[in-house]
Amino acid sequence: MSYQISTLKNLLVGARHIAVLTGAGISTESGIPDFRSPNGLYRTVTSEEVFNISFFNRYPERFYQTFGPVYRSIVDARPNAGHLALAALENSGREVTIATQNIDNLHQKAGSRTVYELHGSLRTLTCRDCGRLYQLDGKEAEAARELTDLLAAGKVPRCACGGVLKPDIVFFGEGLPEFALGASVFAFESADLVLALGTSLGVYPAAELPNRRDRSARFVIINAEPTPQDDNADLVIHAPLGKVLSEAAIS
Ligand code: NAD
Ligand code: ZN
Repeated sequence: MSYQISTLKNLLVGARHIAVLTGAGISTESGIPDFRSPNGLYRTVTSEEVFNISFFNRYPERFYQTFGPVYRSIVDARPNAGHLALAALENSGREVTIATQNIDNLHQKAGSRTVYELHGSLRTLTCRDCGRLYQLDGKEAEAARELTDLLAAGKVPRCACGGVLKPDIVFFGEGLPEFALGASVFAFESADLVLALGTSLGVYPAAELPNRRDRSARFVIINAEPTPQDDNADLVIHAPLGKVLSEAAIS
C-alpha cells in the first residue's frame, strides 16, 4: 500500500463526521462523461453554453439534442467502486454527509443515506409555462416511460398545456436549492474530515464548501488532475477514484 493510501486510510479511521463533496469525476468510471477532463463533454459534444438557462429558454431543442445521449448514459449507469466505498464508510458507523454536484443518482443507488443534490436531479421536470411537475420515477409508470424515451431520443418534452418541460437540474444562471446548500454548509462546518472527490473545484458555490471547514478539520482532495485548492489540502491524490477509495476502504 502506498504512503498516500495509508495516510488516507488513517484519516478515515480517525474521523467521526466526514463531509464529502463529489463531482462528475466520481461517475466517469460508471460510463458518464464529466465536463472538463480531456474526454469531458465540453471538449467533445457541447460547450458550457447549452447548460445556460437563457440559452435553454431560447433553444430548448439544442439543449435536448445534446443532452439525449448523456441522459441515456445516466439512466443505464450503475454505481462504481467509488460510490460503493462511500456507502460502506457510512455503514462502518461514521457519519458521512455527501454534497454532490452530480445529477445521476448514483450515490443513492449505492446505498448512501445522506445525499444533498446541490445541482438538482433528473427525477422530475417542470413546465416552464404553468409550473406542473412531471415525475420520472413516480406512480404513473406509462407517462414516465414515454418521457424517458423522448429525453433519450433528444426530443423536447412538452407539458399537457404545450409548454416546454425543463429537467429540475441547476443550469448556469440559476440558484442552487436552498435546503441542499444550507444543509451542506452545516455538514462542512461541523465535519472533522472533508473530502473533495472527482471535482475540478471550478463551479461555485459548490467549490466553496471545503472552505467552510473548521480549522481543526483535515482536508483531502482526490482528483485525476490538479485543482485550484490543492495547495490548501492536507493530502492530495491524483489518481482514479475507484481504485483509491477501494484500496483505502475500512470496515
Ligand atoms: P468537472 O468535469 O469540472 O471535473 C471533474 C473532475 O474529475 C476533473 O478534474 C477530472 O480530472 C476528474 N476525474 C474524472 N474522472 C476521474 C476519476 N475516475 N478519478 C478521479 N478523478 C476523475 O466536474 P464537476 O467539478 O463536477 O463540475 C461540473 C458540473 O457538471 C457539475 O455542476 C455537475 O452538476 C455537472 N455534471 C454532472 C455529471 C453527473 O451527474 N455524473 C456529469 C457531468 C457533469
Ligand atoms: Zn404546462
